[in-house]
Amino acid sequence: MIYNKLAETMTRREMRELQTDRLKKTVRYAYNNSPFYRAKFDAAGVKPSDVKTLKDIEKIPFTVKSDLRDNYPFGLSAVPMDKVVRIHASSGTSGKPTVVLYTKNDLEMWSECVARIAAAAGCTDKDIVQICFGYGLFTGGFGLHYGLEKLGAAVIPASSGNSERQIMLLKDFGATALVGTPSYALYLGELAEKSGYKKSDFKLRTGLLGAEGSTPEMMRHIEEKLGLHPTNNYGLSEIIGPGVSGDCLEDCGMHVNEDFFYPEIIDGETGEVKGEGEFGELVLTALTKEGMPIIRYKTKDITRLFYEPCKCGRTTVRMDRIKGRSDDMLIIRGVNVFPSQIEGVLMAMEETAGHYEILVKRENFMDVLEVAVELKDGALLENYANLERLRAEIHRRLKTVLQIDTVVKLVEPLTLKRFEGKAKRVTDLR
Ligand code: ADP
Ligand code: ZN
Repeated sequence: MIYNKLAETMTRREMRELQTDRLKKTVRYAYNNSPFYRAKFDAAGVKPSDVKTLKDIEKIPFTVKSDLRDNYPFGLSAVPMDKVVRIHASSGTSGKPTVVLYTKNDLEMWSECVARIAAAAGCTDKDIVQICFGYGLFTGGFGLHYGLEKLGAAVIPASSGNSERQIMLLKDFGATALVGTPSYALYLGELAEKSGYKKSDFKLRTGLLGAEGSTPEMMRHIEEKLGLHPTNNYGLSEIIGPGVSGDCLEDCGMHVNEDFFYPEIIDGETGEVKGEGEFGELVLTALTKEGMPIIRYKTKDITRLFYEPCKCGRTTVRMDRIKGRSDDMLIIRGVNVFPSQIEGVLMAMEETAGHYEILVKRENFMDVLEVAVELKDGALLENYANLERLRAEIHRRLKTVLQIDTVVKLVEPLTLKRFEGKAKRVTDLR
């Protein structure tokens, strides 16, 4: 079902006109209301009147995460506090979190976006949706919650944690859709199996999965374990939260709600804008935001864009699954390695359980990339020859993809750490 036909199926020309109009307005609004943006524009010698076309966006300097940190907590605000109705913050792996502010209109827009991506993933008002994202400063829980309510689904706000109870609720309430991170969905599937549940105990049909990277192979594991159709959706708190883009059922990239978020792909180093289909860093501009306008935000997420209309009937631009973040790209002995490449190899193998950890260290002045892989079946550990064969095979496949040697360690089932929120799989000790 297409939630908003008008917005999601307009022609490219209509979309560009709408975006141009909104861009001009938002640039003027930011300049007039956000001291941060006024200063940024002035420093770059750009006036709102310089932005007349979409292409003119390239005159505007980028906004980066440290801009938000340096202006902690409310420095990017464009409204007095009486207009703010919600405050969220992102986890912030180092130092202060980044804070975001929402007005009533911002929340309305956010819910609209989430309702659209949920509908694109196949959810309707008949669904019973269990949300396993944390409810709190993290945008995941509340974002999905209000969007799914807007769609008319019955929402179970389970929040994160207490996995045994999550499984009980899934079964007893007859949940038909699950919201969470891919890694947590996989964990719930495993735990259900281990606790003696069968797939037929559940009515799950759809997985609305996001907030972290995944590979098609990982999604297949989730599908196998939970018997649902997993879909991927993307967002970040600086822009709005979840709801920036999401998969339709054609599985050909995530449709961007581009009447609200204008995407560009750039070369992360030079800032140069790239063409359709080229990989690069995603830069997003919110076109209607009031509480905290955000223009040309460098997401650090690596992806590419496709503008061709989709078989599902939507005409909105699609973004590819995130290949990685520019800051989690590892440089191993001079070679660029994305953790997602390693995941792709591991998940494609029958014998592995879908859980892995990556450890990078330096030994004798050399980078060493160690990959710990959890086995699906512990019995394998009893047969040295088979174990060695598997280890060598993983090593070989990783070498084919990464072009470097790795140290592969096979570990017993259910021994690696599990995550309720975003998985953290890489430790770099260098
Ligand atoms: P935090 O910075 O605390 O992680 P967010 O929740 O805003 O805060 O995280 C946004 C980031 O999460 C994105 O920039 C992206 O790297 C990642 N992310 C979100 N959804 C996806 C997805 N579907 N695929 C890959 N990465 C995602
Ligand atoms: Zn589509």
